[in-house]
Amino acid sequence: MADTSADEATRQLMHGICELRRGTLYVSQSHLAAAVKTRKLQAEIGANNRADRIRGWLAREIDEGRALLLDPAQLEWMGPEERTLARLRLDALRAQTPESARKIQETLEREEAKGAVLTWAAENEEPPKEGEPIVLRKEKRAQLRTARHRIWKNLGAGSLNAVILLLLIQGAVYPESDPETGWIQTAATWIETRHWSPDPAHLLASQAETKLRAAREKSRPRDGLRDWDTILDLGEGWGSIGTAAQEVQCATIGVDIAGVVYQGSLHGHIRARVHMDFAAQSDTNLLRRVAKKAGISLSSVMAVWLSPECTLLSMANHMNKSRGCAHGPYAETLENRTAATPERLELERSKYQACIQSISQQMEALVEENPLFMLENPQASHFWELTQVKQAIAKMSTKGWKLYTVDQCAYGRKAQKPTVILTNIPWDPQGLTGTGRCVTGSCGGTMGNVPGTPGAGKHSQQTVTSDPNRRTRMGEPAKGQKGEYSVVAAKNRVEASLVQELIQAARAQREARKRKRGN
Ligand SMILES: [Zn+2]
Repeated sequence: MADTSADEATRQLMHGICELRRGTLYVSQSHLAAAVKTRKLQAEIGANNRADRIRGWLAREIDEGRALLLDPAQLEWMGPEERTLARLRLDALRAQTPESARKIQETLEREEAKGAVLTWAAENEEPPKEGEPIVLRKEKRAQLRTARHRIWKNLGAGSLNAVILLLLIQGAVYPESDPETGWIQTAATWIETRHWSPDPAHLLASQAETKLRAAREKSRPRDGLRDWDTILDLGEGWGSIGTAAQEVQCATIGVDIAGVVYQGSLHGHIRARVHMDFAAQSDTNLLRRVAKKAGISLSSVMAVWLSPECTLLSMANHMNKSRGCAHGPYAETLENRTAATPERLELERSKYQACIQSISQQMEALVEENPLFMLENPQASHFWELTQVKQAIAKMSTKGWKLYTVDQCAYGRKAQKPTVILTNIPWDPQGLTGTGRCVTGSCGGTMGNVPGTPGAGKHSQQTVTSDPNRRTRMGEPAKGQKGEYSVVAAKNRVEASLVQELIQAARAQREARKRKRGN
């Protein structure tokens, strides 16, 4: 909207503050701040909302090629979406009639809401492949709604779906599953009523349906379809449980504190469906908090998988104590306390404290809810020595809690990696060897070796080794998929067939319970 005298005054102000090179104005963030702060040309530019007026003017100058953003890191500190909003805010301030003010306000609200979803998705969803839309995952919906609740409250019921529909048509996002039946039609009508699009509702709806169908047909979620049996995967980490589970038509809901982790070329960057700090204290138990955050009920979940953080509890840390950089319980040995700096010791103590706190929260929730669950940790982990773990197992032994020791080589791994599973699911470990334990000649690390001959029991890889050729490197890729896990992802992953054997045991137990209830 033109306001020649105000524009001219802003130009005069900015030319006095910023750099002018060959007719182009170079503007830094501090230039802008200075222009907003001074009271120069107050009457001409406008007394109220000075920042919005100057930003709006600058956005237009950039869009029309008369100004450039200046930044030491070469970053565009006012992106295209921000410029659109800045220009709209200025237009709104200059609206001549109530009718035009209303129209600008509607556009501004729409663009702000779209920007809010896109910004949230960039921070909370998995980064999409180049040019592909961002997937809005099912369990993230409640988190999106909560994080931006003020916007949805201001815009009224139905606004979130309307924004998602517009972004879907634009090719920017798509919802993994329908938020409710008939949502496309309802959202399209909402958009028409609010004048958010020049297109009629029926046209918006048919465009959205086409886009959605195409996007969903193309997608192949790494952690299963949302209408399958579901497992809550606490401590998702590198996502190996989800990859294994989806091969037996089981979906996982990953829960983790981690941001984005690069899992390797198999699935690229992954991010948990539910972001949760297990160490945070609360009156509500951890499982209930997870369910609430994901917008699901605990009873809809078939089982819970737990992989409590174990790097701090690993016996391998023992090796570092003489150098004063031991972790976890080994930080407290006399040898380490003598060698470590006070800062180092303090840091280790607080990290260990958070680790112990997080384990307590998981054990308490398991005892309280007692869902079908399986919890894995290396046999050599200090986890199994912790008092709260031992007490919980003793207390719940009458409820079917039981410990099983298996070797992951019996499930195809090239290293033996003895692992303990705590579960309340009746289970008869099988694997390749029929017992879930290592058998020379038939386990994954000694396959084909003749028992009794020299070196027959030597596994072809080791989890901890100084020989790079024997280090765990590659995971068995999921069926029909190319790519491999990164070294750290491969080292930490649980063998797929072990995961699948436990999932089938959980299914059998669920069916048994159903039959029992039926009788
Ligand atoms: Zn073996």
